[in-house]
Amino acid sequence: MAHIESNNLTEAYPMVGGDDAYSYANNSTYQRGVVDAAKELISEAIADKLDLKILGFDDTLKPFKIADLGCSVGPNTLLAVQNIIEAIELKFQRTTNLHQKPSALEFQVFLNDHSDNDFNTLFKSLPHARKYFAAGLPGSFHSRLFPRSSIHFVHTSYALHWLSKVPKEIVDPCSPAWNKGSIQCSESNIEVVRAYSTQYKNDMESFLNARAEELVPGGLMVLILAAVVPDGIPLSNSYVGVFNNILGSCFNDLAKMGVLSEEKVDSFNLPTYNATPKELEAIIRTNGNFTIEKMEKLSQPRRRITANEYASGIRAGIDGLIKKHFGDEFVDEIFNYFTTKVEENYSIIEEKIRNMRWPYHLFNFLENVSGVTTAPKSTVKPVAITMKNQSVSSLEVDAEDGNSLEFVWQLFINGGPHNPWLPTCLQKKFAEMVGGEYLLETFPPEVVI
Ligand code: SAH
Repeated sequence: MAHIESNNLTEAYPMVGGDDAYSYANNSTYQRGVVDAAKELISEAIADKLDLKILGFDDTLKPFKIADLGCSVGPNTLLAVQNIIEAIELKFQRTTNLHQKPSALEFQVFLNDHSDNDFNTLFKSLPHARKYFAAGLPGSFHSRLFPRSSIHFVHTSYALHWLSKVPKEIVDPCSPAWNKGSIQCSESNIEVVRAYSTQYKNDMESFLNARAEELVPGGLMVLILAAVVPDGIPLSNSYVGVFNNILGSCFNDLAKMGVLSEEKVDSFNLPTYNATPKELEAIIRTNGNFTIEKMEKLSQPRRRITANEYASGIRAGIDGLIKKHFGDEFVDEIFNYFTTKVEENYSIIEEKIRNMRWPYHLFNFLENVSGVTTAPKSTVKPVAITMKNQSVSSLEVDAEDGNSLEFVWQLFINGGPHNPWLPTCLQKKFAEMVGGEYLLETFPPEVVI
């Protein structure tokens, strides 16, 4: 049985629900631009990489299951889902043997976010004439959300920079990683950077491991992330970082003015981290459950936003976080002060931003190569790895003790002949993992080893 999320393990700060002035629904045109910018790349990726035969859609009709993780309240998630479905329908039309209209293919879409997310607003905004069956799925994407091998396509946009929690060292005054005076991963203290990046690495590991179990082998995953520019511009000097610094300075000002307590200000940190593309790539490669099929920078047209728009956008994202930490009664004052400060410094900020890179969004396209686990490299002979019924998670490792320095890996893949992709993919994966000699045997699915 998979570990099902317990909400008290994850800090959850969903976006502002409803549809009023500070709602995410009315303050997420920036994120919508990211969805728009990714549309073409997702269509291409589906056309080039989604193998409907491998997924068993060439001669059988079954629901095609899509998940959008960190969906918030819309409308962006609905747009993203529509783009994905259109691209899959096109692919289905072009490549399957069924000669049926695309409408014959049914879609089930799971919209995931924290359980405190305003799913009611999301459900109410579902288009009446949609091409999919929709379901809300509460829970943290850092844990398992779906049964094994049950999802064909995972999408997530602008959500993976949220950590499962603020690293505890950075709020500990006795730790060298105490992040006093800053609210984000500030490079002035290497210990702070280490704490944030380790938290991110651990969270991404959990995310990738959970998805590897849930995605069918050959399933695809698109990750769209806000990233730090690749050529070493520190986070605190990036577009996001500049605004975070201003927000941090507002807390300090308000503490000096006696509005907020110094202790509260010192202990506030953002549970977010923007990895560099290299960092992310290393995490995905080390994790080993996915191959990176494509990784590129998204080009989003630049639009000048007003100080007010910027402040409302930030508020839509972190209102809950601020409320929880400082108390409801301070939220308006904090954001009013923040808006004024952004307005007052806008020309300086603009100048600073002009001299740096526009925020960097990464488009990653990953293929699930299976959740293979293996026995430790040792002087064991032979080691048989049995994969039953093509289930990625039912790998069993039988190791016999032996003293020979040479060892041979035997890879028995049940169902191999009916799945041309699986052996090739496993071979590749296996070669990477053990690097040594191995024998590969495949069995038809009816033979259970
Ligand atoms: N994808 C949407 C929303 C992005 S806002 C869009 O592009 O507009 C980021 C969303 O991720 C928020 O709704 C937040 O609640 C959600 N989120 C953050 N951490 C999460 C987690 N661990 N599990 C599920 N959702 C998470």
